[in-house]
Formats: sequence, C-alpha cells, structure tokens
Amino acid sequence: MTDIETHGDSAITRPTIKGYARENTFSGIASFMRRRYTKDLAGVDVAVSGIPLDIATTHRSGTRLGPAAIRAASVDLNWPIYPWGFGPCDLLSVIDYGDCWINPHRQDTIFDAIVAHARTILNAGVTMLTLGGDHYVTYPLLRAHAEKFGRPLSVIHFDAHSDTWADDDERSVNHGTMFYKAVREGLIDPASSVQVGIRTWNEDFMGFNVLGADRVHASGVPATAARILEIVGDRPVYLTFDIDCLDPAYAPGTGTPVSGGLSASQALAILRLLLPVRLIGMDVVEVSPPYDHSEITALAGAQIAADLLCLLAAQRAAAAGAPLTIPVAGR
Ligand code: MN
Ligand code: MN
Repeated sequence: MTDIETHGDSAITRPTIKGYARENTFSGIASFMRRRYTKDLAGVDVAVSGIPLDIATTHRSGTRLGPAAIRAASVDLNWPIYPWGFGPCDLLSVIDYGDCWINPHRQDTIFDAIVAHARTILNAGVTMLTLGGDHYVTYPLLRAHAEKFGRPLSVIHFDAHSDTWADDDERSVNHGTMFYKAVREGLIDPASSVQVGIRTWNEDFMGFNVLGADRVHASGVPATAARILEIVGDRPVYLTFDIDCLDPAYAPGTGTPVSGGLSASQALAILRLLLPVRLIGMDVVEVSPPYDHSEITALAGAQIAADLLCLLAAQRAAAAGAPLTIPVAGR
C-alpha cells in the first residue's frame, strides 16, 4: 500500500491517482474515498460520479442530496477494505469526476444530459461507478452503456421494486417504470438479467428472473449468489443497486422503504461472491439523506460502492492472469 503524505484536501492535492492519503476524516473536501477530484480522464480506470436527481420519485424525495452524503460517508473507507484484504485504489486508478450537471427546471433535458455525461466517461475507455440520485438515472446510463458495449445488456438489479411498471408515456420521468422502457427499447435482456430482493407486487415482471427477498432469506447467501452467476453467465453485466433492497432497518434514508428486506451483511456477502461476473458498469442509487438517521443509509451506500470497486479490482487482476488472494470472499 502506498501511503501518500499530504497536508489535507487530498481530493485536490494528491500527487498520484492511485494509493491512499492520510487525511483527517472530519476535514477537507469529501471526494469519494478521498480520490482526486478531477475531470481529467487520462490513465483512469474508474470514474466515480454523482447524479443528484430526485424529480422521478413517486413517494418521498431527497435523493438529490445522495451523492454528497455518500461521499461524506466514504472518507473512512480510504484504506484497504475488509474482508478483501486490499485497497481497490492500490490496484485501480479511481477518480471522483464530480456530478453530472442537470437543470432541475427542465425535466425534458435530463435524460440527454445524463447520456452525454456518461458518453464522455465511457468514450475515454473509463468504467463508471455512479452515485444516485433516484433510480431513473439508470435508464440513461443503460442507454450510454448499451451504445458502448452493445445491446441488450444483462443487468443485476438489487431492489425492493421491479421498476417495470407499465409506462408508455415517452415524456415521463419516473423511477418505477424505467426498466419497462429499457426492456421495450431493447437495452436489457430480461432472460439473462436478475432482480434481487424484490418484495412489491407487479402484474408483469417482463421476463426478468426474480429472486424475491423472501427467497433470499430462505435459500441464503451462497445459493443466491450461485443463482445470479448462473443467470448472467459470461455476458457483459451492468449492476445497479437500489439501496431500498436493504431492509429499512439498514437503509431508512430512502424514498420508498419496504419491510422485509436484505440486511447490509447479506447484500455485501452476495456482492463479494460475484467475482466471475463481467462487470461493465455500476451504480448505487436512492440514498435520500433527509430521511436518514445517523448516516446509516449513506454509510451502507458508501460501503456497497467501495465493495463494488474491490470486486472490479479483483476481476481485473484475475483477467490479467494475476488473481488476488482474497482471505474471505470467494471461499
Ligand atoms: Mn429502484
Ligand atoms: Mn426501490
């Protein structure tokens, strides 16, 4: 592990993209995991960026404050991550690209603004880890990823909700219908995609494989992960994590909480078993700080995002023929 000496504000003072920086957790510019805060994509493996949107929510808003809260909660993850035994930023060049600029007064421009934001990053050959924002942001992100990686994509979707409720209104900006639109548009192949943690009814799941929360609780973590791997196979996968997949006990700060969800520990354990997945993009969405308590939800979002970076780092190392020794995950 490289330990870069700085005098604080390592988001703007760190001399290298990789490695860690000693910095007081209570001080300085809260970039995600204290990464360099920059628009320079040269030599970058992963760009973390925020999309501060909450106009697509149906119940409680507040996710426009999600990216800032996740960044603030991530400052104590600026070192090797348990149980991986390594720090993702020793292995990957990760930056904080800042936020996608959106005009909250022009709903009709939001989809295109997010697609353009994603294209800039993807066309530089950089992988995206996006912090929401409500779940609508995943729709334009899928459009941009499908342009880059080909359609249809397979999706691993953690959520209490299927987000496939019928919606034939092209102009709607709705966080409960965008996967209906994405499937109809041919961006997602539901047969090789999976929804995990679902516990709200929908007359039509559009052919997605559904691993409801009750099934996860009954069959356990290893069986759930094995089934996910079986469904997506070796296809390119976009992973989207709606924080309301977690039970309200673990994620109270979200717009549409539903009882009976996964624990943070179940979700993290499942993610840590997804090493064989060919990840091409990922997001963590629906963290709504105004409804949070003691930063429980922001902390869960930050930890999940950090674990996704570890997962990607381990996958890249394995693909390069130098698999990492991971003490716990992947056993
Ligand atoms: Mn959702
Ligand atoms: Mn949801």
